[in-house]
Amino acid sequence: MYDINKIRQDFPILGREVYGKPLVYLDNGATTQKPLCVLDAMRDEYLNVNANVHRGVHYLSQQATDLHEAAREKVRAFINAKSTNEVIFTRGTTEALNLVVSSFADEFMGEGDEVIVSTMEHHSNIVPWQLQAAKKGICLKVIPMNDKGEILMDEYRKLFSERTRIVSVAHVSNVLGTINPVKEMISIAHEHGVPFMLDGAQSVPHFKVDVQDLDCDFMAFSGHKMYGPTGVGVLYGKEDWLDRMPPYQGGGEMIESVSFEKTVFEKLPFKFEAGTPDYVATHGLATAIDYLQGIGMDEIQRHETDLTEYAMKRMREIEGMRFFGEADHKDAVVSFLVGDIHHLDMGTLLDRLGIAVRTGHHCAEPLMIRLGIQGTVRASFGLYNTREEVDTLVEGIKRVSRMF
Ligand code: PMP
Repeated sequence: MYDINKIRQDFPILGREVYGKPLVYLDNGATTQKPLCVLDAMRDEYLNVNANVHRGVHYLSQQATDLHEAAREKVRAFINAKSTNEVIFTRGTTEALNLVVSSFADEFMGEGDEVIVSTMEHHSNIVPWQLQAAKKGICLKVIPMNDKGEILMDEYRKLFSERTRIVSVAHVSNVLGTINPVKEMISIAHEHGVPFMLDGAQSVPHFKVDVQDLDCDFMAFSGHKMYGPTGVGVLYGKEDWLDRMPPYQGGGEMIESVSFEKTVFEKLPFKFEAGTPDYVATHGLATAIDYLQGIGMDEIQRHETDLTEYAMKRMREIEGMRFFGEADHKDAVVSFLVGDIHHLDMGTLLDRLGIAVRTGHHCAEPLMIRLGIQGTVRASFGLYNTREEVDTLVEGIKRVSRMF
């Protein structure tokens, strides 16, 4: 039994008003709200435990280290990684992707080597590769998609060459909501002896993701999109790959010994964690994972799929409605335009009705070029949204449409 009223009480911000209207928060793809348990856990750590991790012999430092390492184990179990050596804490998806791109390219890529990405990538899975392209002369190959927003698998197969070194693709598109057939894509990459990096920013918060079942080589995701705090994210990487990759940043925490002649790096996972980590945020993230598991990932997925299907069904009633992203396998994102109403006008007027949506290119400009548009309005759902909120959105869109 999905007790939505009880769930909503865990998020006091959902009870606030904007412009005198009840807030309808439909921008969960950008970031999610935080339940009280996450805020309480972090407050409690700052109030009662706070000390730097991995350094002190003193009681507080050991307690803080225990919480931080317990968070790593919590993440490991959540994504079913083999070992905590495979769980690297980062600032978020973007930093995790940059870490792999930089370190992997340093070790395994040279001029003329190729990376395969898809048309629907977020900028954070495009620009880091382009930085390497400028530095080392590597090339990006792009998997095309159909008009529903689905990857063309035959075209994907054709992109592999003897120069392909890695594939890096979003699990779920933050604009189209498409759930890409990554298990099949990963197995195709492996047939070519090529590793696969998954951008899990929009999948891990919404359904169960098992890295061993998928057999991905790397995966990145952000705490703040899964009801955890900002400033913390995760890079999952198979130990075998991470072991062979050089550190991304140098500093404290990531070394075993340093002299002016020679530095010996720490073992995994610390080799990739230079400097003081946000150990309070990792504890917050672990608490968010507990919260998600308390509700159940399958229940969350069922609830959000229902909302998405209901939203698209109701929105089809609206004259001039155009959807972007109608894949058969789709997650909790609905991108749209109505007639020739500019996305920014629609977003601004919905905001006046208390409805928070995102407008613009959603950090996916190459996708906008493919779609032949400048931007969309995007409603993205979270575990606390309701059918009534979808109704409010639909009425809001109708009202705005009448004004034009
Ligand atoms: N990839 C995807 C698919 C995303 O949706 C986002 C966030 N919009 C990112 C990467 C970047 O995440 P962050 O800003 O948390 O690093």
